Amino acid sequence: MWLGIQQIEVYPVTLAYREPFRIAPGASTESHNVVVRIITDYGVCGWGEASPSERVTGETAETVVKVLDKIAPKLVGMCPLRIENIVELMDNLVAGNPSAKAAIDIALHDIFGKTVRKELYRVIGGYRTEVLTDITLGIKSPKEMAKDAAKAVKRGFKALKVKVGVDPEEDVERVRLIRETVGDDIQIRIDANQGWTPKQAIQALNKMTKYNIQFAEQPVPAEDLKGLIEVKRNSPIPVMADESVHSPEDAVRLIKAEAVDLINIKLMKSGGIHKARKIAAIAEAAGIPCMIGCMGESEIGIAAGAHLAAAVRNIQYADLDSDLLLKDKLVKKGGTKVKNSMRMFPKIHGLGIRELDTVKLGKPLKVYK
Ligand SMILES: [Mg+2]
Repeated sequence: MWLGIQQIEVYPVTLAYREPFRIAPGASTESHNVVVRIITDYGVCGWGEASPSERVTGETAETVVKVLDKIAPKLVGMCPLRIENIVELMDNLVAGNPSAKAAIDIALHDIFGKTVRKELYRVIGGYRTEVLTDITLGIKSPKEMAKDAAKAVKRGFKALKVKVGVDPEEDVERVRLIRETVGDDIQIRIDANQGWTPKQAIQALNKMTKYNIQFAEQPVPAEDLKGLIEVKRNSPIPVMADESVHSPEDAVRLIKAEAVDLINIKLMKSGGIHKARKIAAIAEAAGIPCMIGCMGESEIGIAAGAHLAAAVRNIQYADLDSDLLLKDKLVKKGGTKVKNSMRMFPKIHGLGIRELDTVKLGKPLKVYK
C-alpha cells in the first residue's frame, strides 16, 4: 500500500484552565478534549483534536471516543489526501457529532501539508501570513473585567472579546468600564452566548454603541431565528451568529433569512477545516464576513483554526485564544505562538506541531490499524 492510512490513535486529555472561565450559560475549570494521531504508510503522521461542547453540539469526550470507534476502523487503508471523500464517508457513517469529525479532518489536513512539504495555510489559500487574534475576558464584575482588560492590553493584545449576557444593565457597565480603561485604539467585540431576550439585546446594544463595539455575538438563543432577525434589524452594532450556525446548511438558512451580519465559524461546529471553508465561501458570496472562533482547544486545534484564518480572505476576524486560557500545555515545540496579538506560523510543514508533551498526552486509549 502507498499513500494509505496505516494507524489511528485516540488520546482523551483533560486540560485545566488558568482560572475558572465563565460565560453566560456557566463556568468551566477544565477542557475535556480528544487528540487523534493518524499515521500513514509513507512516514507522515498528522495530529488532530476534538474539543467537544455539550451545550453547543451535544458532544462530550466520551461521545467523541464512541463516534471515532465507528469511523476510524473504516478509514484504515484509505488515502489520507481524499479529504472530501472521507468527510462524506464520515457523514454517511454517523450523523452530527462535528467535533469528533473535526479531529479526523484536522489530522488529515496536517498530513496534507506535510505530504506536500509546506505550512498548511500556504496550500489552502495562503491569503495572509499572520493572523490577529483577540483574547477573551470571561464574565466577572465590571471592575474585575476592566482590570483583566488592562492586563491583556499590557500583554500586547489589540482586540478584546468581552463576555456578556448576564444582566443587560451590568453588561453595559462592563463595556463602558473596559472601553474607558483601554482607550480608543483597542478593538472590542462582545459575546452574549444566547443570554439575552431580543428586547434586552436591542436595548443593551443601543446603549453600548457609543463605546465603539465591532460586533455582538449570539445575542439571543440559537433556536430563536425570529428574535435574531429582530435584533439585527434594530441593532446599531453588527450581529454575529455563533451557536446558530454550525454547518454550511445553517449558513445558507440564516443568510437567506437575513438574520446575520457576520458568522463565527468554529471547527468543532463545522466538523473541521473542509466544511469551514465551505461556510466561509457561502458567506463571502453573500457579503457576510466571518470570524474563526474556538471552544477549549489546545495548541493543536488552535493551530488548525489559525492556518484556516490565514488561508481564507473572508475569515476577517479571529478569536483563537483557548490555548492561552489553558494552564496545561500539550505542545512542547511548534504551534502558532502569539506576539502582539498576532498568531505567527513557524516554518514547519502541516499544522506546525513539532513535539507534544508525552506525559500529558499519555498512552492511546484506542489504536485502530
Ligand atoms: Mg461565541
